[in-house]
Amino acid sequence: MISFEEALKIVLDNAQFLPHESVKLEDTAGRVLASDIYADRDMPPFDKSAVDGYALKREELGNPLRVVENIAAGYVPKNEIVSGTCSKIMTGAVIPAGADFVVMVEDTIEVNGFMDLKEKEEEFKKRNNICYKGEDISEGDLLLSRGTVISPAATAILASAGFSVVSVSKVPVVGIFSTGDEIVEPEVTLLPSQIRNSNGWQLRMQTLSTCSKVKYYGIVKDSPELLHAAVLKSIEECDITIITGGVSAGDFDYVPGIIKECGFNILFDKVSVQPGKPSTFAVKRADYNENKVIFALPGNPVSSLIQFEMLVKPYIIKSMGGNYLPLKLSLPAAEEFTRKNTERLSLVPIVINPDGTFSPVRYNGSAHIAAMAHADAIAEIPVGVKQILAGEKATIHIFR
Ligand code: AMP
Ligand code: MG
Repeated sequence: MISFEEALKIVLDNAQFLPHESVKLEDTAGRVLASDIYADRDMPPFDKSAVDGYALKREELGNPLRVVENIAAGYVPKNEIVSGTCSKIMTGAVIPAGADFVVMVEDTIEVNGFMDLKEKEEEFKKRNNICYKGEDISEGDLLLSRGTVISPAATAILASAGFSVVSVSKVPVVGIFSTGDEIVEPEVTLLPSQIRNSNGWQLRMQTLSTCSKVKYYGIVKDSPELLHAAVLKSIEECDITIITGGVSAGDFDYVPGIIKECGFNILFDKVSVQPGKPSTFAVKRADYNENKVIFALPGNPVSSLIQFEMLVKPYIIKSMGGNYLPLKLSLPAAEEFTRKNTERLSLVPIVINPDGTFSPVRYNGSAHIAAMAHADAIAEIPVGVKQILAGEKATIHIFR
């Protein structure tokens, strides 16, 4: 049995290299940038007013000043500020020549074409309310690195750098199916022995969160022939296949055997992690640039959910040229908690409290998917550790 860290390394070492494509700005959310993005101009591109107010010479602040112009954002000022004058100016407008100060409109009164201060307080003299050309960004600065997963802020940066079309990695096609004779879709009237397919739906949503294309193949019975056919179809049509169930040591757990029959090399089939021990990863190299992979995750819903976030999502994003791991923090436990077996890394659903401590949620084990409705994140209990004391720190993984 390998450690979780070794499993993650094997998975990432086998990432694919997806080609690039151009997409419109509106289609960039969650995609991975394929090139570095540089600034094509200074930001701000000119000295600009940070407020609505009056542009003037600082040494004349406090004198009544004749208003010579009203400068709106987007227009070039016509008048230079000379002694005894000022220009009304709007937020974002170009500072006129001769001005080195903008007084906020709230601190002024304008009567008969002259601007005067309301109160002669010193406070507002401290800030000149000018944003200088290039103070945020200089032309040629690196704005976004290749491999960035595009957030709304990154889309804003792309827009500000003049991109309406962006080069990103193509997304993988991900085939998903659930296995198990007892598994039925949510709309089916249940027999007492049946279990609703939650994994298939959860994996679809998790996969969609990476922007990948999903091909959902539904539920496959625990039959070697049907599983064989399903695996062949999925690997034919998809870059990545995710299977849940059928990977443990039960009499009807045919998935590992079928994966081998289909020509895959199983790189691991047991990971020292709880939940998710039977997580299986297999690769088939058709030629040097075609690399099909199968993740076969245990059927218990919490195992499948956590192992997707911890292994599959990093794989998908790395295949798109990006880097993703759940956000890692070190937080103190609000209360003591213990576990019986210490030979595996334990991943425990927790809530993060407003005071920055964490507490485990009520959780009965890997079948208890309802517990995840209340969890903010997962805490790690390292191999060999039985107990986390109140106040003791643990590593927390936040799924993003
Ligand atoms: P398995 O990994 O096939 O041995 O399944 C382990 C447990 O997870 C069993 O209790 C299954 O009924 C349950 N299970 C398997 N697949 C699913 C699924 N798609 N949705 C919900 N529960 C599942
Ligand atoms: Mg099963």
